[in-house]
Amino acid sequence: MHDDSTQIIFLGDGMGGRPVPSLDGQTCIEAQETPAMDEVARGGECGYMDPIRPGVAVGSDTGHMVILGYDPFQYYTGRGPFEAKGVGIDVQPGDLAFRCNFATVEENLIADRRAGRITERTDELSAAINHAFSNGIDGVEVIFKESVAHRAALVLRGDDLDPRVTDVDPHEVGVAVPLCRPLPETADDAPAQRTAKLVNEFVQRVHELLEDHEVNRQRRADGLPPANIVLPRGVGTAPDLKPFSEQYGLNGAMIVEVDLVRGLGMYLGMSVIKVPGATGGPDTDELAIAQAVVNAAAEHDFILCNIKCPDVGGHDGDAEQKMAAIAKVDRAVGYLLDNLNWDSTVLMLSADHCTPVTIQDHSGDAIPLAFYGRGVRPDDVRSYGERACAGGSVHRIRGLDVMNIMGNYAGTLPKFGA
Ligand code: ZN
Ligand code: ZN
Repeated sequence: MHDDSTQIIFLGDGMGGRPVPSLDGQTCIEAQETPAMDEVARGGECGYMDPIRPGVAVGSDTGHMVILGYDPFQYYTGRGPFEAKGVGIDVQPGDLAFRCNFATVEENLIADRRAGRITERTDELSAAINHAFSNGIDGVEVIFKESVAHRAALVLRGDDLDPRVTDVDPHEVGVAVPLCRPLPETADDAPAQRTAKLVNEFVQRVHELLEDHEVNRQRRADGLPPANIVLPRGVGTAPDLKPFSEQYGLNGAMIVEVDLVRGLGMYLGMSVIKVPGATGGPDTDELAIAQAVVNAAAEHDFILCNIKCPDVGGHDGDAEQKMAAIAKVDRAVGYLLDNLNWDSTVLMLSADHCTPVTIQDHSGDAIPLAFYGRGVRPDDVRSYGERACAGGSVHRIRGLDVMNIMGNYAGTLPKFGA
């Protein structure tokens, strides 16, 4: 049992949004009944958060990083290393790590960037890839591992590699698979040229290997798009992050559903707790996640929890799906309200970014937030949502302010000055 206070950052991924015409101009949060989140807003201090700065859209990786107090401008080295670490690859200094999609190519054009959101047997495809590259490429070791659904990670390990190369993903369908190229500033740089060549050879050989793989023969027979190519992107080297416990003197845990954010927790040396039933999708078991947070609170000073599904609804442009996901977040928050000691617990309820259904991607809109529990000074806000939180006493903060505000309420922040 740890002493004194517990700090919990609870995020509905991409939960914030913009007015939706089909909801009479309400946002998904505003249109959905959220009794628990409203109670947090009523008993707490509300406001807005801009993760990095107003107007700047962030990824889930940079969003979580900055909310945990690590400035992405200083520490961020790309998404690939988080994805790779999150799936369990030990990314070492000098390694290049990419995040990848299994995708579908037909007649040399990309037909589906996610291979029909494949969910099964990607482990067999990974095994085939690792076997085929067991001798590496040109002296460079190749490590590949599947993640959830169509996602995967690739690590290249060897001398003279350079992360300054382009993505092998056009982010659209009906176009050819682009070649990996050195970034313009590296035009005469041998390691960047070599890295691009290695990536292109990897992609080409994987395509030849997977085209007739048994898994894909079966998928075609079932009328499903084959996962016959792998598209690497988001390359980076391992970030040099000070462990969370050293940075804050707190024993921290992370309970999240996606490998990307899990990887960040692993780099930070936090306890990364996997929850059975936490799928990252609309079918996730939100009460199991909430229960895991309550259990972790008995042994940790700090917990970051993220429920992924609101972001999925946002990307799909599906307001009903996003509202159902927000209802799940609300049920999880309700469980926390009922099962934690709020004299000693500080909660921050928010999101890592907005994912409006009207733009189907992350936006740079400010995110509603509420601080609740130990130490907070409640304001007059009566419900949780984009417009309601705008009237709260926290006003507008940046992601880098969050850990200080939490630490102030929890009594763990050292005094600045005498
Ligand atoms: Zn996110
Ligand atoms: Zn997203």
